[in-house]
Amino acid sequence: MLGGLGTDATVTAGEHRVAFLDLSRQSLALRAELDRAIDAVVASGRYILGENVARFEAEFAAWCGVAHGIGVASGTDALELALRALRIGPGDEVITVANAGAPTICAILASGASPILVDIDPSTYTMDPVRLEERLSTRTRALVPVHLYGQCADMQSIGEIAHRRGLHVVEDCAQAHGATFDGRRAGSLGTVSCFSFYPTKNLGALGDGGMVLTDEPGIAQAVRELRMYGERESRHSERSGRNSRLDEIQAAVLLVKLRYLERWNERRRILAAAYSAGLAGSGVRTPAEAKGRMHVYHLYVVRTAGRDELRRRLSEAGIGSMVHYERPVHHHAAWPDLLAQAAWLPETERAAAEVLSLPLYPDMTDDELESVIHTVRSVSRA
Ligand SMILES: *Cc1c(COP(=O)(O)O)cnc(C)c1O
Repeated sequence: MLGGLGTDATVTAGEHRVAFLDLSRQSLALRAELDRAIDAVVASGRYILGENVARFEAEFAAWCGVAHGIGVASGTDALELALRALRIGPGDEVITVANAGAPTICAILASGASPILVDIDPSTYTMDPVRLEERLSTRTRALVPVHLYGQCADMQSIGEIAHRRGLHVVEDCAQAHGATFDGRRAGSLGTVSCFSFYPTKNLGALGDGGMVLTDEPGIAQAVRELRMYGERESRHSERSGRNSRLDEIQAAVLLVKLRYLERWNERRRILAAAYSAGLAGSGVRTPAEAKGRMHVYHLYVVRTAGRDELRRRLSEAGIGSMVHYERPVHHHAAWPDLLAQAAWLPETERAAAEVLSLPLYPDMTDDELESVIHTVRSVSRA
């Protein structure tokens, strides 16, 4: 059954001596617990919106310090439904970053709103609040900061701008389960927040899943309706919705894994610290931890002008690496209109040419990490 994980596009185990990511290690370590949890769902006869989803919604929301959680089918759906719950749609502008991959843009467009792209702070790769001011207009309704690579955006400054202008803040927390800003967890820092449980995330299902969190009961109710055809009462749609639900089986899996999340994030931080110490003086720039923000290293991203060469040499040495992301969203063929915003995004363009993600996940061994450090150092020295 667990062999199905091999279809995950980002699992490269087997291809390299040191895999970029091998999800089967976590699944096999938890196999007995996962099998029991899945078995119980199979035997229960209830597969959609049952007690596992309700429990996981309550536990994950509480873990993040938020009142309400609504399980949905993916992180992309979480973002779309959060925006629609806020009554954001055609004619509205939503500001986000261009360096976080396609899903955030897909969700904004699916809501009917127009994405406006803002540049990043080159030290954290997250939304630059200074540049943000220049992108506001009378049509701006919401800001969607992405807590990229496992570190929160500057939520203090972003929150102040939102407050002054009467804007909603929709956090994209897909890469930041457990990250904190001034001691508060990602997901509790905006009007509404959106999580993904895609298998590679810090908390990942054995398939797709997502969640919307909010303290506002009205927004929570709207998302609950939108995830189920817009129904308020049974079989009566109040407004047109979607079918976007978290499955019972995935919720049962996530309940098992939630109990390990803090341990896993701690292990990620230990590995990241070892990388940063081992790579000091190697010529690659290691990730910066901004003051007051606890980074949970969804990805360990270094930066170097010689990125493509380093990546090739790592691969020759049997080490997997990836680029998150090679192509900022305004360079995707799907959205030619976004290219006109390129002039606003010089730091985004520069980073895209230089960032490289090294292997880092909780089940990675210390020996594997040493081997990566050794290879990066030998390439940079040459
Ligand atoms: C993974 C991810 C998403 C989307 O999540 P899915 O569950 O794959 O739809 C959204 N935003 C960011 C930044 C992500 O990394």
